[in-house]
Amino acid sequence: MKNYKPKGRLKAAEYIKGILKSDRVLLSRAITIVESNLESDKILAKEIVQSILPNSGNSFRIGITGVPGVGKSTFIEAFGIHLIKQGKKVAILSIDPSSQRTKGSILGDKTRMEELANMEEAYIRPSASGDTLGGVANKTGETMLLCEAAGYDVILIETVGVGQSETAVHNMTDFFLLLMLAGAGDELQGIKKGIMEMADMVVINKADGDNITMSKMAKRQYQNALHIFPQADSGWSPVVSTASAIKNIGINNVWEEVGNFKKLVDENGYFLKNRNQQQIKWMYNNINEELKHLFYGSEEISSQLKVLEKEIISSKISPVKAAQNILEQFKKSI
Ligand code: GDP
Repeated sequence: MKNYKPKGRLKAAEYIKGILKSDRVLLSRAITIVESNLESDKILAKEIVQSILPNSGNSFRIGITGVPGVGKSTFIEAFGIHLIKQGKKVAILSIDPSSQRTKGSILGDKTRMEELANMEEAYIRPSASGDTLGGVANKTGETMLLCEAAGYDVILIETVGVGQSETAVHNMTDFFLLLMLAGAGDELQGIKKGIMEMADMVVINKADGDNITMSKMAKRQYQNALHIFPQADSGWSPVVSTASAIKNIGINNVWEEVGNFKKLVDENGYFLKNRNQQQIKWMYNNINEELKHLFYGSEEISSQLKVLEKEIISSKISPVKAAQNILEQFKKSI
């Protein structure tokens, strides 16, 4: 199966030419190749990504997270339309941890962001699926590079705020936005401290109707909560604001704050420093993924692992010794 070569694949040069001309069809087809696990596609994907690399990196990358129901898709639609009105081209990608387990997806259904999806200047791509979060993140990272080469100048990477994929999104974006709700029981809503700490901006969404007063209170509480964290490396102090995605209130303010952030990090050198660190991290993540793939993908290793599992249960071998043995065997085989 892995050596199967799908029909209808073009030469790398044709995808590259298409992407650089902002051809959406060829962009989509190239992304499908990046997402594919077929060996022949992996080779093609590497060639495409390597060639477009000099044309990538020119966008501003924003990570957006929040629990299901907080209003991510409504917000992204309003925000995306606002950006397009400012003359931007916007690509919306997602990392959806649920798609690994269920092959279904919390984020990817087609009825979302209908108005935005119909706009020429917007490109929406549902989440890649994969076996590991690292694998999915790699694919989304490469998809982002292709979108940049196709001329999208703001990339929004959405993830569902349930505590698994935020770090992956944070590691590939310039600005991290956390959407929250006021008055949903505990003011900090089970959003983990680590996620709050990553946020450059917290937006209390659904600040409309009866919810306005509560949202203002929540804003103060989050402002106090964020003060406790040490100063971020970027030199930026995270801001908290209220918004109503559905009524299009406070959306322009978010873009203004992004602009303030960009100005600061351009001037103090953090923007470039962070991008460079992210690139290095990305290489190590890739190495980790490939190593895991090499090890667990080997039939010999997996049958030996089954034997070792039994031996551990029957106390014939200690888990540490078992790990040592199999790694020795692996080292000899490479
Ligand atoms: P997601 O799961 O985070 O993507 O959330 P959705 O964008 O699908 O929104 C969940 C629900 O909240 C939908 O019924 C939206 O219409 C509603 N919603 C989203 N934003 C707002 C808002 O600003 N105000 C109000 N009142 N409802 C909103």
